[in-house]
Amino acid sequence: RIVSGNTEDLTEDLIEKTLRPQLMAQYIGQDKVKNELKVYIQAAKARSEALDHVLLYGPPGLGKTTLAMVIANELDVRIHSTSGPAIERPGDLMVLLNELEAGDVLFIDEIHRLPRIVEEVLYSAMEDYYVDIIIGQGPTAHPVHFTLPPFTLVGATTKAGSLSAPLRDRFGIVSRMEYYSLEDLRQIVHRSSDVLSTEIDESGAVEIALRSRGTPRVANRLLRRVRDFAQVYRDGLITKEIADKALSILSVDNKGLDDLDRQILMTMIRFYNGGPVGLSTIAANIGEEMETIEDMYEPYLLQLGFLQRTPRGRVATPMAYDHLGIKYDTEK
Ligand code: ATP
Repeated sequence: RIVSGNTEDLTEDLIEKTLRPQLMAQYIGQDKVKNELKVYIQAAKARSEALDHVLLYGPPGLGKTTLAMVIANELDVRIHSTSGPAIERPGDLMVLLNELEAGDVLFIDEIHRLPRIVEEVLYSAMEDYYVDIIIGQGPTAHPVHFTLPPFTLVGATTKAGSLSAPLRDRFGIVSRMEYYSLEDLRQIVHRSSDVLSTEIDESGAVEIALRSRGTPRVANRLLRRVRDFAQVYRDGLITKEIADKALSILSVDNKGLDDLDRQILMTMIRFYNGGPVGLSTIAANIGEEMETIEDMYEPYLLQLGFLQRTPRGRVATPMAYDHLGIKYDTEK
């Protein structure tokens, strides 16, 4: 899988980490988000205060985790990373909060998946840097008040809409991450090739960038696969020709769609006359989880204009028909 990937693969995970930019100057693209953050970081540092809490939202793989690390590096503080589903009880959160020093960054990925009882503990922690929790049970239960050092919570989510209003309102800085432009991706491919000591020519970098669905994580993943082909079929240099060959074998087409994207569209077109059709029906037809389709695949298909969301379900657009080489019935 190119899009959803298998992050359990340790070597791939390790390579991904080494590819992470450490500072703003190395972080390519997302200029609007970067420029705003630079000002807030500089101001917080000048006042020797903790940076206001930051919420980063957008599709997966756009560099939210990377940006959280960059923020901590730029602030010159430590980062403590966790994710929403990993914090099951208020006690789990307390362990993390207890480790914080003044100014530190607490990064919570998938923050929309925090259990409600944990979320409620976060409110006072974020707003006034204290936590009141009940220790013990029954007649021995008693409230305990903990004060915390000023810290910055950086939350990342693919679903800003699923965040409760009280939590969302406590973030002073809310930044929306955009899909990357071709030029940004081209630069990312070049940068990652340098880090991996892989030779790539201009045409090869553009070809990979073109098929990366606006997403650095996909660009890096494609680069690693194409690098293998370059090693086996040539002297290691990545060219357009090698990228083309490798990506065709991987079934990644010239718009960056993989087999599952095409299956989604094909199911809609062949079985439901292009829609409207519900997401759960599509998921059941192709044997994939609804969440995977909604989080990993649909945002890019929407961005390309191949899919539309309507109140009655998803609809495949004439552009999707065209891309798949299927005639669109205008009488429909
Ligand atoms: P998720 O939300 O699913 O965790 P993410 O948006 O946090 O995804 P990251 O893990 O931060 O994505 O980024 C994926 C990879 O893309 C990283 O290995 C990093 O090297 C690369 N990357 C992300 N953003 C950039 C960027 N702006 N410049 C260069 N490389 C980037």
